[in-house]
Amino acid sequence: MGRVLFVSAGPGAADLITLRGARALAQADVVLFDALTDPALRDMAPDARWVDVGKRGFCHSTKQTAINAALVREALANEVVVRLKGGDASVFGRLEEELLALAEAGIGYEIVPGVTAAIAAAAQTGRPLTRRGAGRSVALTTAMTREGELNLGPAGKTADTEVFYMAGQQLAALSRRLLAAGWDASAPVSVVSRAGCADALSSEHDVASLGAASMLHRGRPTVVVVGAGAARLGEYATAAPRQDLGAKGPSRLAQTPND
Ligand code: SAH
Repeated sequence: MGRVLFVSAGPGAADLITLRGARALAQADVVLFDALTDPALRDMAPDARWVDVGKRGFCHSTKQTAINAALVREALANEVVVRLKGGDASVFGRLEEELLALAEAGIGYEIVPGVTAAIAAAAQTGRPLTRRGAGRSVALTTAMTREGELNLGPAGKTADTEVFYMAGQQLAALSRRLLAAGWDASAPVSVVSRAGCADALSSEHDVASLGAASMLHRGRPTVVVVGAGAARLGEYATAAPRQDLGAKGPSRLAQTPND
């Protein structure tokens, strides 16, 4: 019986995988992956069998069950199975279901951490997610429910900086929900798509004008950073009271990778 290495691939560009992740790939007999944004990842395991579990045959509600079954099947037939996941495997990656399936089958596993999209976005824009005094907490939030609807939960405002995943299709709705949740209309927002990749885009908004980002980022993996971590450098005074956070000029769109 083999074992499964869960490898976090990073946000897309192959060179954002960790050294440990690259070494795990080099040992792989088989690699189960969802979607490869950078085909150069394949060069790290050229002799392995690469199985796209994001493709047809693994679709809709049966998809996760089929992936779990494939993991167990491959682990029984191979020595080293790599389960490659985008960003960090532990963040919005359905890791729990896969770990439970392996545990149930008595198959051992390891998890290699990686760069999640929120962190890649902060690096892309040069805007730290935490700020001394004013940005003391960060929340990673999925904007989608299991049924695929927009849902920010009951509070919707839980940290000084909130990073929303999977909200790219619904930015205008997200803007309304943020206002309803108590965010200031002028609180800063930065929207980053394909962070860490050569064709990354970022744009700067405030909560009220967030919907304007839809066109620019359409069809691309996108995170939305709201609050302290989206502010321009030096704009959030240390220990500023919350209602002062985010006061800034009119929003503007920027299309440079390193905005
Ligand atoms: N495990 C992944 C997240 C998977 S959920 C991670 O840790 O990053 C998929 C969501 O992640 C997308 O809808 C998008 O919101 C975000 N995402 C993934 N890659 C991204 C990238 N390069 N730039 C911006 N957002 C990204």
